[in-house]
Amino acid sequence: MSKKTKHIIHEYADKMQQKSNRTIRFVVLLVILAISTTLGILHQKIRTANVDQLCPFGGVESALQWFTKGTFLPKIAISSFILLLFVLIVTFFFKRAFCGLFCPMGTLQEIFEKIGKLVFKKRYHIKDTFDRPLRWGKIIVLFVFVIMSWVTGQLVIRPYDPWATFHHLTSADLFPGFIIGFILLIVTLLLSALYSRVFCKYLCPLGGFLSLLSPFGFYRISRNDKTCINCKACDKICPMNIDVSVTQDVTDIECIGCNECIHICPVKDCLVIQTKNKSRLTTNGVLTIILVLFIMITGIFTLSGQFKWVQSTLTQQVQESQEKNVALSPDNITGQMTFQEVSEAFNIPMEAFKIAFSFSVEEETIPFKTLKETKEYETEQVREFVKQYLKGIQEP
Ligand code: SF4
Ligand code: SF4
Ligand code: SF4
Repeated sequence: MSKKTKHIIHEYADKMQQKSNRTIRFVVLLVILAISTTLGILHQKIRTANVDQLCPFGGVESALQWFTKGTFLPKIAISSFILLLFVLIVTFFFKRAFCGLFCPMGTLQEIFEKIGKLVFKKRYHIKDTFDRPLRWGKIIVLFVFVIMSWVTGQLVIRPYDPWATFHHLTSADLFPGFIIGFILLIVTLLLSALYSRVFCKYLCPLGGFLSLLSPFGFYRISRNDKTCINCKACDKICPMNIDVSVTQDVTDIECIGCNECIHICPVKDCLVIQTKNKSRLTTNGVLTIILVLFIMITGIFTLSGQFKWVQSTLTQQVQESQEKNVALSPDNITGQMTFQEVSEAFNIPMEAFKIAFSFSVEEETIPFKTLKETKEYETEQVREFVKQYLKGIQEP
């Protein structure tokens, strides 16, 4: 076989490998999105953990409250902190690779991006003059919501969060509870058909948080300028509009570690993932490490009983708060709970609920979410009633 034929065969094999790496990445992202969506739908039917307990940003929002008051924000559980630990470890090694290789909200945008590419055959860019200042938006959103949550003791971001909204698309709580989140979700997905990763670039507070930590990441993408043919395929494919072709090492805090630039580069080993001392990793290697880390961390904490995929009942929560010597907040009442549970947990006579809400004996054990279909009150009204009742019996 001639040298030229061998070269052509090698080039073809490399291209096929790159193509399959891109497919593997996208399939993994789709599987994570499918699992996450299933958990969201299940939560509407049974007591699986809610979206806030399965989101690492819950840990960021709740951190100040935990450090200063020793409690979590309503709806947040230790699982949010465990997932945050996973994200922090990933970031320590691979910068924002959580965004490019794991986050299901990023995948949702990528799906619409692919649809947009098919329909419009091109991608649009927001001019640098607007784009760069707008990217500070996610840092502002981060600080505003973290501080407001700490000051109010509430999960302030919830009604505006497109990811929480996505998990409530099949829920009776969608309207009016998530109107703003719904508008943001629809706008994000429609815009994603034209512009890549709009929510990630401008609004996502977790993305903002990770971009601040990104410089501490150990691995980075490096370009070999001796072999680079300046084709700019990497610049064109980059969803975050980074000019990879003119950088030695990609250190931009906007890089989400999706590795698409590496998957598209026509020159073998021109773009690689490596540390400063040149230890190298393949893109599939990074993906595998992240998945193994996720399984290990959630597995260990699930076995130790700290990561709860199924929510505690109110009675269990009462016991837990008694052990911690803190009062259980009425904000922990969710749509999956019943009048009977709330009555027992807060020691409020059932008669008091009956006078306020008027329901039959059978309805005492029906979750508020289901009752909502026939009755005219929201879970929020039950929470408010409990708060007022407890306040009333505390006041002389
Ligand atoms: S920026 Fe936010 S939405 Fe985008 S991938 Fe990262 S965490 Fe997910
Ligand atoms: S520089 Fe490469 S890895 Fe980073 S966001 Fe752009 S395409 Fe993805
Ligand atoms: S895709 Fe590869 S060869 Fe082309 S400009 Fe980027 S780094 Fe250079």
